[in-house]
Amino acid sequence: MAQIFADVILPLPVKGSFTYVVPSDADLTIGQRVVVQFGSRKLYTAIVLKIHNEKPKEYDAKELLAILDEAPIVNEKQLQFWEWIAKYYMCNLGDVMNAALPSSFKLASESKVIIHSDFDGDLEGLLENESAIVNALLHQDELLIQDIISLTNNKSVFAIINEMMRKEIVLVKEDLHNKYKEKIIRIVELADENLQVKLTEKQEQLLTHFTDLKIRFPKKKWKVPDLIKKAKVSRGVLDALVKKEVLKIEIQSISRLLNDYKKTEPSKDMTIPQQKAYSQIKEGFKDKKVCLLHGVTSSGKTEIYIKLIEEQLVKGKQVLYLLPEIALTTQIINRLRKHFGNKVGVTHSHLNNSERVEVWKAVQEKDKKKAQYPIMLGARSALFLPFDNLGLIVVDEEHDPSYKQHQPAPRYHARDAAIYLANIHDSYLLLGSATPALESCYNAKEGKYHLVELNSRYKGIELPKIECIDIRKAHLKKQMQAQFSPELLNEIKDTIANGKQVILFQNRRGYSPVLSCSVCASTPNCKHCDVSLTYHKCQNQIKCHYCGYAENIPKVCTSCSATDFGSKGFGTEQIQESLNALLPDATISRMDYDTTRKKYAHQEIIRDFEQGRIDILVGTQMVTKGLDFDNVTMVGILNADNMLHYPDFRAYERAFQLMMQVAGRAGRKGKQGKVLLQTYDETHGVIQLLRSHDFKQFYTEQIAERKIFNYPPFSRLIAITLKHKDKNRLDIASNQLSAQFRKSFGSRVLGPEYPAISRIRNYYHKDILLKIEQKASVKKAKTIIATIIENLQEQKDFRSVRIILDVDPV
Ligand code: ADP
Ligand code: ZN
Repeated sequence: MAQIFADVILPLPVKGSFTYVVPSDADLTIGQRVVVQFGSRKLYTAIVLKIHNEKPKEYDAKELLAILDEAPIVNEKQLQFWEWIAKYYMCNLGDVMNAALPSSFKLASESKVIIHSDFDGDLEGLLENESAIVNALLHQDELLIQDIISLTNNKSVFAIINEMMRKEIVLVKEDLHNKYKEKIIRIVELADENLQVKLTEKQEQLLTHFTDLKIRFPKKKWKVPDLIKKAKVSRGVLDALVKKEVLKIEIQSISRLLNDYKKTEPSKDMTIPQQKAYSQIKEGFKDKKVCLLHGVTSSGKTEIYIKLIEEQLVKGKQVLYLLPEIALTTQIINRLRKHFGNKVGVTHSHLNNSERVEVWKAVQEKDKKKAQYPIMLGARSALFLPFDNLGLIVVDEEHDPSYKQHQPAPRYHARDAAIYLANIHDSYLLLGSATPALESCYNAKEGKYHLVELNSRYKGIELPKIECIDIRKAHLKKQMQAQFSPELLNEIKDTIANGKQVILFQNRRGYSPVLSCSVCASTPNCKHCDVSLTYHKCQNQIKCHYCGYAENIPKVCTSCSATDFGSKGFGTEQIQESLNALLPDATISRMDYDTTRKKYAHQEIIRDFEQGRIDILVGTQMVTKGLDFDNVTMVGILNADNMLHYPDFRAYERAFQLMMQVAGRAGRKGKQGKVLLQTYDETHGVIQLLRSHDFKQFYTEQIAERKIFNYPPFSRLIAITLKHKDKNRLDIASNQLSAQFRKSFGSRVLGPEYPAISRIRNYYHKDILLKIEQKASVKKAKTIIATIIENLQEQKDFRSVRIILDVDPV
């Protein structure tokens, strides 16, 4: 009989897949997890990608050691998606596997196992291997899986540990950080009636009690602790009956996801403009599958999504609703649950491992009695959930740069990847935004996407009035109070005096970006990065926003020994503090990276603001996105200029989008809202277009610029960053690499150059940028790039140079 081989994906940054021999008695399916040995004696959980008969030529395939699941945990559509991500974004399949799977799916020899806190220490009823492991763990608090293997002399340890995790006897150590645990219950049932055995008096008592209860409440399930309490016997009595096979204990997991979200609202009737957009979208779907809904802020896009989702559910299809940021999921999840009850699941970066596993299972679940999530809401990583039947993907706020993953690989763009995913499922894809990305508008203009526009706000409320305040003048006249012009401060006062709420936007967190010596103007820098430290008044520290390094406020200047420090620029923290002093009666809250680190922090801030417990919400870009508050009539932008003067070809686009979006939070219900924008340069073209809400003109001007300078969408970019601790070696490597690139790509190669921040965590950085024409074959270019990089890394001197590839950088 021919030998059978399996190609597997390892959760490691290694190229391609690896071939193993399938044991002859094994029944293996694609997508199943297996345990394999890789490298020097290390074991890993791998995913089966292919099963075939071709013996590998380059190496002797080892036998795979165990199969972990009865059914595949990853389906073939997912694998196809993983392969595309790895190819397109030039990374390893293992990187994609790591991003896609919850970590407890990936036991490896380095995983540490500990006793589960719920385990009662009772060895009765455990299998022999299980009690050996428990015994070992009673002597040592934690064990590496590789130690357990040598201890038990048993290579099926992964399977045993998996089962022990299910039974809540042990857990993988990283789970410790998670307060959340999958909840299981132990149910007592009658075993095959074995009436021959002799029972003690106590055992008899328990058995009679139990059969009695079973007769009276035939459907009720009796949990171990409840039963022994009712029967007034000890746990030992029950265990003895289990051992004698009179009773048995069944382990059942109960999902914490089965919360009862009752549907409370029927879906809303669409207005005429909404209906029109809706039917145009459906027309577009018939024709192109991908549709771009360009609808001004508060035009009711979300209501249209809800209608489209409803239809897919009726057809028995799954829906994925992507949002750029966790802060947004809070409001949208509530809106969706009002319509769809507990059919909606949510996933984001604040979930812990066990929650991730449960969400995964609920997406796969076919049994209607169990928790099922036909609708999933989530940030970019939701793309990796085990969908097998998607009917619709919605990419809300499709322009948002947080859809792009920067670190670590895979550096994918969720909007672009969603297009491929939709393709695999033959599903519809809807991109929605009030300020679509230039690339998306261009694709719509070129006929790649079907374009639908919605130009009026719900109920015809006018778009907010945007007024500029010249703070250069205010500064000269010495009228500024802290960061506030008199106009802005008065408008805030009037708004809250009328019982309305205010949002203030400053695109920088912290207190003031830099502390500078009042005498010599030098600023304290990070020890590990080439960047000034940011002042955080709250902790009385200066911190690096790149590596997290922090130190106390210096007492003397290191350059001139002066003792007086001032600050340049300002962040959200400082604005909140000035406002507290200027408006002592107002309640002011802040939403930025620093205030939302805790698990439910977003929810709390948003709820407090919704319920009117906060008058003024100060925030970074987090407050600009998609939020829907009825009572906000005024928005203030503290400094428009720092967004515009940023060295990036997308700076104007970003600034325009951010300001247009934050303006869109004002006046969503009732009367027209107002936006006050402080700037040093009212005449700036972007600000002028913003005032007239003229997206079309903005697009026309920007796209013309992009064309002249051959930037996306007219070209595709691939950014290559080289990193090394030794500056010299980095220079040589990057010069050699760019010279090689130039041989193939000529003037399409830019650099190498030091980026604005050229040293991070003691590593020097150098960037090379490749601009590839839209018409050229990117696939071919990528192959050439990969080969050139491989050749460089084969040289001994450059093996330690880290090379990072970013396809379509954002
Ligand atoms: P967008 O997503 O375009 O910013 P939303 O869908 O959030 O707009 O709509 C703005 C507000 O108007 C929301 O509070 C929403 O509930 C309300 N709204 C939109 N369409 C309708 C409708 N047809 N009936 C009732 N309320 C609506
Ligand atoms: Zn640093």
